[in-house]
Amino acid sequence: MPMTPPSPAFSVCIYCGSRPGNNAAFAATAAQVGKWIGRHGGQLVYGGGRSGLMGVVADATLAAGGRVVGVIPRSLVEREHAHTGCTELIVVETMHERKRIMAERADTFVALPGGIGTFEELFETWTWRQLGYHDKPLGLLNQDGYYDALLALVRHSVANGFMDGSQLRLIEVGAEWQPLLERLIGAAGFTTTVQLDTL
Ligand code: AMP
Repeated sequence: MPMTPPSPAFSVCIYCGSRPGNNAAFAATAAQVGKWIGRHGGQLVYGGGRSGLMGVVADATLAAGGRVVGVIPRSLVEREHAHTGCTELIVVETMHERKRIMAERADTFVALPGGIGTFEELFETWTWRQLGYHDKPLGLLNQDGYYDALLALVRHSVANGFMDGSQLRLIEVGAEWQPLLERLIGAAGFTTTVQLDTL
């Protein structure tokens, strides 16, 4: 009789660069994040590509025994090198479908360093939370001050009366990946334990 695979302990959606960036620490962190998700029996939900930090986090999750759900629009299958090694690779027709499925399949969201695609995903998930479309915890990894300038813009917006403090509190910002991830998963209502079979 075929065994049903165990359901993941939690599901984290990671937004990050389709490029590696030029600070090697960012790829090293993406690998640690993936390994941590895998070792804790978690599931990674991401954009489904092999390139850049996206590929690094997916490979590390898979190597550590985690589940990986990649969601990619058909038009990007070649450009972003769709990751055929994903546990589940969902090829969709539109970017909107991609974002909807990623949001549905995740318990929490974290943005690592990335470019405009990452910014867009972060801001959309943030604004959706503000509008009450979801109430899943959302985090920003400000590794090595990468997002200092973005956070300064947000504070500038608060100072100019276009945002208020309650909107800022909808996002957790942290410089260290592990405490940030643990806070978000805890806030989503899950406890994390290392899976013995991954040791
Ligand atoms: P980037 O941060 O620009 O390297 O992009 C990271 C990921 O975000 C890539 O998989 C892009 O396809 C994706 N992306 C780009 N634009 C959007 C968008 N409007 N909505 C969702 N994802 C996007």
